[in-house]
Amino acid sequence: MKSSWSDQEAERYVERYAQQGVNADIALRVYTSRLLGRDPALVLHGGGNTSVKTTVPDHLGRPTDVLCVKGSGWDMAGIEPAGLPAVRLAPIIELRGLSALSDEDMVNVQRCNLLDASAPNPSVETLLHAFLPHKFVDHTHAIAVLSVSDQPDGDGQCRAIYGSRMGYVPYIMPGFLLAKKAAEVFEANPSVDGLILEKHGIFTFGDNARQAYDRMIEMVSLAEARRQKNCKSVFLPSNFPKHCAPVAIIAPILRGLIARGEIGQSSKTQQRMILDFRTSPMILNYVNGRDLEMYSQVGVVTPDHTIRTKNWPLVVPRPDANDLASFQSGAAAALKRFAARYHDYFQRHNKRQNPPKVELDPLPRVILVPGVGLFGLGNSMAAARIASDVAENTIQTITDAEAIGRYQCVSEADMFDIEYWSLEQAKLGIGKEPKLARHVVVVTGGASGIGRATAQAFKREGAEVVLLDIADEPLALAAKALKCDGFVCDVTNTQSVKDAFSKIAARFGGVDIVVSNAGRAWQGKIGTVDEQTLRDSFELNFYGHQRVAQAAVEIMSQQGFGGVLLFNISKQAINPGPNFGPYGLPKAAALALMRQYAVDHGAEGIRANAVNADRIRSGLLTDSMIAERSKARGVTAAEYMGGNLLAREVTAEDVAQAFVNLALAEKTTGAILTVDGGNIAAAVR
Ligand code: ZN
Repeated sequence: MKSSWSDQEAERYVERYAQQGVNADIALRVYTSRLLGRDPALVLHGGGNTSVKTTVPDHLGRPTDVLCVKGSGWDMAGIEPAGLPAVRLAPIIELRGLSALSDEDMVNVQRCNLLDASAPNPSVETLLHAFLPHKFVDHTHAIAVLSVSDQPDGDGQCRAIYGSRMGYVPYIMPGFLLAKKAAEVFEANPSVDGLILEKHGIFTFGDNARQAYDRMIEMVSLAEARRQKNCKSVFLPSNFPKHCAPVAIIAPILRGLIARGEIGQSSKTQQRMILDFRTSPMILNYVNGRDLEMYSQVGVVTPDHTIRTKNWPLVVPRPDANDLASFQSGAAAALKRFAARYHDYFQRHNKRQNPPKVELDPLPRVILVPGVGLFGLGNSMAAARIASDVAENTIQTITDAEAIGRYQCVSEADMFDIEYWSLEQAKLGIGKEPKLARHVVVVTGGASGIGRATAQAFKREGAEVVLLDIADEPLALAAKALKCDGFVCDVTNTQSVKDAFSKIAARFGGVDIVVSNAGRAWQGKIGTVDEQTLRDSFELNFYGHQRVAQAAVEIMSQQGFGGVLLFNISKQAINPGPNFGPYGLPKAAALALMRQYAVDHGAEGIRANAVNADRIRSGLLTDSMIAERSKARGVTAAEYMGGNLLAREVTAEDVAQAFVNLALAEKTTGAILTVDGGNIAAAVR
């Protein structure tokens, strides 16, 4: 590992932040915190923290000694001065005189000494930073250090590397007692450059930002060098049958097992998850190991990972492409054992809790699939990615630990204390989830008009949204603007649709809601229109819907917990207009298609509904068409667009909201929702 320190870059930070009234100490604290935070071998997702002791003016302008320490909820990779709340230093150093301090009292006294009442909570390791005298203090959960420390004789192994250059702190969970112990270890040998926290991580410190940072890099490099020598090859491969099922097939099966509540019918044991897949030579080497069931089940590499991944991953059988039924039943049995083990772990450790804790859900956050890779699981793609990042980091740490000895982490009781520690649970920001969180929504024709508005409306409800569109440039722009995924898909091509849905299943784990919206208007007088025009329109405006619905239903059936199909059928399906036969006829067939899905797949919990909209400004109804039609009727464009019972123009957003409402209407199927401001000729009868 190399130092990324640059004098010029450091100078730029100092200058840039000076313009915002931020002093040089804090500017440099931001700089090296980012350097550390950017390297996943050092810091992952809010793990690790940094501080600087400096002087800033209080509310009366008096110079005040403070500790600026990483705030809860901030990620070091992109930290700003606001993510380093200033706490008055003297009062919190005085706390060291106490013999005990509860977590609640610790958080309270830290908040009471903030200079800014709206600042985030200072890190749970604030007191450890405060009790050390150094100006700059850096803390990481470096993989290289953990692979040495997470050993039966981790302490001895670390001493062999660092000797008296580091202090050694036995495992204690973060908080007041750990802070006191770390200060004692430091004071016993004040010449040390840092501290090794057994089976937890590493602290380095210095008089300036560069010194603390460079010491971190040097110490981690020494641990890396240990990995290079005397290491044995790890993970003997098991003998596997040849053909592994692809991710797009196994992900919906796994997602279904968890969401269907194979292990119990309660909101805790039955949850939709978003699945984030990862694979690499390192991951495959690990998941293909003969003793995977042993080394993968020891526990987390540093205690705070437990809130992201639980203590252990779920290991499922290798998915043989020729025998998916065995994979499914084997995975279901493994999931049941996982949940039973979790429940038992909770029961055993909850006995010593006063007051008792409330059991969290027993569902895995990481699934290891031999022959294939791993899945991170979460209530959103962001959470799932965090779980898989942590899982990859874990695999590397355990691989390295096994190479130099035998992996061992903190005890199960210590993991429980962290998992059920109120301060850790607070990091997850548990609150009320949006209505469509955990749902994967696909919108065809998603790059513009009604499709784009619909995608946006589903995003507002917390869904993971995927846009499909034939036009790649508008698609890329829309996906970027909406911060969602987009795949090019031609709904007139069966393979293109299948490929797109495979990508979606592989990317998110499955599909919950599909808005089949792609369409185009063809015109012609029905008695004279050429056959090809009619066929082209049917290809897109009828078969397009069928291809999309069929691909979605295949995944929904693999998941086995229902789904929602929503079709954009237009007013033409019900109330044909002159010369619109080529458009209206396939739309009328699409209406019948929707009902057929409702009939044939209702028993599987798949609902099918449609929106009948009219006069929406879009690619189908352009401004020039509006001008032409309003002129023909002798009205203004506004009068034309508001030519309905309510005399109000209907927008793409109105149609989008109708799709959302249908998605949420859990007892409605086979229905047509009219969104046209009132047009009695197009009313459903
Ligand atoms: Zn830590």
